[in-house]
Order: sequence, then structure tokens, then C-alpha cells
Amino acid sequence: MIETTMQHGDLLISGLVEYSRKVFPEAKIVTWTENGARDTSFADIGNQGAQIANALAKLGIGVGDRVATFMWNNAEHQALYAGVPSMGAVLHTLNLRLSPEQAIFIINHADDKVIFVDASVAPLLSPYLQGTPNLQHVVVVNGPVEALTAPDHITVHAYADLIAGEPTTYDWPALDENAAAVMCYTSGTTGDPKGVVYSHRSIYLHSLLVTSTTGMGLSNRDSMLAIVPMFHVMSWGLPYAAMFAGSTVVMPDRFLQPEPLLAMMAATKPTLAAAVPTIWAGVSAMLDANPQDITHLREVIVGGAAVPPSMITKFDGYGVPIVHAWGMTETSPLGTIARPPAGIEGDDAFPYRVTQGRFPAPVAARIIGDNGEELPWDGIAQGELEVAGPWITGSYFQPDGNVTDPAKFNNGWLRTGDVATVTPNGFMTIVDRAKDMIKTGGEWISSVELENVIASNPTIVEATVIGVPDAKWDERPFVLAVVRSEDDADVDAQRAYLEGLVPRWQIPERWSFVTEVPKTSVGKFDKKRVRQHYAEGDYQILGQPQE
Ligand code: AMP
Repeated sequence: MIETTMQHGDLLISGLVEYSRKVFPEAKIVTWTENGARDTSFADIGNQGAQIANALAKLGIGVGDRVATFMWNNAEHQALYAGVPSMGAVLHTLNLRLSPEQAIFIINHADDKVIFVDASVAPLLSPYLQGTPNLQHVVVVNGPVEALTAPDHITVHAYADLIAGEPTTYDWPALDENAAAVMCYTSGTTGDPKGVVYSHRSIYLHSLLVTSTTGMGLSNRDSMLAIVPMFHVMSWGLPYAAMFAGSTVVMPDRFLQPEPLLAMMAATKPTLAAAVPTIWAGVSAMLDANPQDITHLREVIVGGAAVPPSMITKFDGYGVPIVHAWGMTETSPLGTIARPPAGIEGDDAFPYRVTQGRFPAPVAARIIGDNGEELPWDGIAQGELEVAGPWITGSYFQPDGNVTDPAKFNNGWLRTGDVATVTPNGFMTIVDRAKDMIKTGGEWISSVELENVIASNPTIVEATVIGVPDAKWDERPFVLAVVRSEDDADVDAQRAYLEGLVPRWQIPERWSFVTEVPKTSVGKFDKKRVRQHYAEGDYQILGQPQE
């Protein structure tokens, strides 16, 4: 038996904070405002992070206590990302787009003691506070405290006053690297939202991947436009990876529409950007109407939902490669990223770029068939994707002990609920969410594949597909689409476009044209709501079911 001679060294967020404030004074957080960009250096983020920790300690917050944020992507949120976990408390990022019931459920379930809220969304938070008896403090950031209305049991603070005069250093505790650091609830499209708790170690290791060329390749020479919200899986890990690499991060605050995003790009010239496909669909429509050079972007990272191949082609046309990635709240989130094999360029690379990509070394993966058997990586066999690894959750948070619900875990593997194929060299393709597959006359249709082909028609702005009951075939696809102009709301023309692109039996009969497809709190097509509306007869259905 031989023992390693290596030191241990806990991987802690306080280490990232101290390192980045010292070594990268030139890196900054650029927050977009009504009046353009506002810069905050990493040195200042470190200072504010320490001031926040000192102020929270005075409020009685200690190791393990939950401190929530109800905020956009901005410098103050970054300072909270730095200070809260470093002092040993747990940062709980609340999704701004939850329903009131879900928000109240989550605040109580996580037992949040303090919430930091952006003044611009304080009116949204105010009504929830009647239902959160254990919450003690609310701190209003970036605007007047009057924006918030709170019941008597809550003390309201102004952020500037709370941290004013506090020391800009803090004696960060020597935590165990496996201690809880940040928590985030799943978007809850099925059932109650579930809590995932990231550790210092998992975040640190995930940052290594984000900064690796195998991952997003984020470096100190990059400026990253982080559109993906800090309340959605830690903005894909970018705030911490930026501290690791010394990258500048451009944060859009509440200005998430295509027009300000393009203005932001023109003003700040980011080299990378990250967001879900629906954001890029909007940006692309705007770019086509008002061309603008975006080639300062060396890559755009897109994930959170399947990227239609037509979108990749479209962005190639702008001179900006889309890099497709897959992940979940449960996977921190980077689970795969599509980087074609060495020596494969141009058109030959396209079939790799449209997949969700390869698993990084620390993420173990397998696909499981209907009878629980492990399926081969042959690019054909389809099964439920299961993953395991140091930044994959092994349970869900419960106040009285975390749970490993068998519907979500299989002997230590996370059941993703995604149906996938994997090629022999590890390129994974998500066929569909298991619950979104459509079974018609005994055959399966992938709603995602059908959506991709429908969306490749230039007359379509956005489209989603769900399975709906059908007297003859049990289930048939129904298309809810937004078209470019009224003339394009033509079922025969839309169906004709699909001829030859998908098998004839897959071509949908039922179509409805609307002005917007419902989206979830994180900007994905909300198929649950589309199903509800369909069942309630809210859509005007064009086209005839087959006899
Ligand atoms: P969330 O936890 O809200 O981030 O949702 C995770 C789910 O989003 C995954 O289980 C997938 O169903 C879906 N998803 C994420 N990225 C992709 C992608 N690149 N392609 C297809 N589906 C994706």
C-alpha cells in the first residue's frame, strides 16, 4: 500500500472569491441599465461580498442558513454569489417567474431567513410575504425600499445602508468542501418543484469544466454575455467559472428582449454568450430585420431545450457558431457539450453539432431500456438517459432529510426523464422528454424532431408539438405555431413543406396559429400549458383529422 503525497486542499467558493479579487482586478461585471453599461471590478465584487457576509452575520445568519435572492443578473447578485456561500450560508436563487403558489411553497420549504430583492421586482415579491412566516429580513437592492410592501414580522433594509461601513474583508470559515453552498429548485413542470443543493466542491469542479476547452472554454480573454438567468441553475455556472478564469461577464439585468440584447452586444462586444433557444430565435428575427455585425461572438452556447438545426445554420450565416449543450438543474447543469471530433470540419461537422454532444469525463452516463436493461451505444437504441458524477445530484432536498425517490433515482444514478441515443464515440442525442413522445398507431414520434423540421420552414417563427387524443390512432401530433405573416397561417402549405422531410404518417393534421407559444419560467415551450389549453378547447384548430 502506498499513500499519496499530495495535499488535500478543500475546494471552496471563498478561495475563488479571494483569488479573483486579487489576481483579476481588470475583470469586471458589466451590468446593463436604462443608461447603458455599469462596470464593477472583481476587486469590488470581493469587497461587497465580504460586506454582505459581515452584515448578514450581524443579522444572525450563520453556517447552513438559507439566504435567498429574487434578482436579475447584475453585479449585486454576483456579490451575493460570492459572499453568501463563502461565509457558510446557503444561497437560494428564487426564480422570478414562478407562480405565487410555487414561490411561497419554495421560500417556506427552503426555510429562507433573508431575501435580497431587486427593487424592479419587489412589487412581485410583496404579496408572497404574507405567506412566509419564518422569513425575517428582506433587503431591497438597486432601488428604493418603498418598492416593497412587507408585513410586520419582516424587517426591510436598503442594500446600500445594510452594507455601508462594513469591513471589506471577512474571516471566511474553513468549511468542508462538501458543505452546501447554493440551492435551486427545478422549474416544476411536473408536480411540486424539487430542491437541489450544490456543494462548494461540485461548483468548483463544474467551474473547471466551464473554463476547460472541453466545456465552454471560458478564459480571462473572454467577455461572456450571460443571458441565462442567475436564478436558473446558477446561470449555467458562469458566475463562479468567471471568478475561476477572470472573465468579464456582461449581465443584462431585466433587459432581456432582443432589442436591448442587441444594443448590449453592440456596446460591449462580448466574445461568448449563453441562453436558451427561444432567446436566440427572438434575436435572430430582429437581426434579420435590422442587420448588425455580431461576429465579435466567437461562439454562442445554447441549451436548456433542443436547438433546432435550422437555428445552427442561421447563426452560421451570421458568422457565429452555435455550440449545443445539454443539462438540467440536477446536473449543475453541464451534462454534455457538442464539440465535433478532431479533423472533422465544415459540413461534415454539422451532424455532430446538432447532437447534444459528449459527456465530460466526470459525468458517467448510460441509457436504460423499458425492462431496466442497459442499452448499447450504437446511435440507434433509444432509452432513458441516466447520469452520475460529482456535480450530479444524488437526492432532492427535504427539511427532514433528503430523499432519493425511486422515480427519479436508480441505484445512485439520476433518471433524467429524457429519452436518448448515444453513438459509439459518445455523442448523445435527446430524442424527447419521455412524457412528450407521441404514440400514434403503435409508432413513436419524437415531438422534438417534428418541431425541428417544422421550425426549419422560414415562414415559422416558433412552433411546438404535443400529442393529442385521436379516435383512430390513439394519439396524433398537434402543432401550435407562430407564423411570420397571416398568409403563412395555411395548413395545406405548412403540410406540403413537410412532405419528404418527415415520414408521411408523421405529418400533423391539426394546427393552430397564435401570437405566442406559452413558455415556462425559464423560457422553454410550456407543453403542460399547451396541453391544458388544448383540452379546454382554447385553440382554434385548423385542418382535418384523418378518417
Ligand atoms: P431544467 O432543469 O429546467 O434545466 O430542465 C432540464 C431539461 O431540459 C432536461 O431534462 C431536458 O429535457 C431539457 N434540455 C436541456 N437541454 C437540452 C438540450 N440541449 N436539448 C434537449 N433538451 C434539453
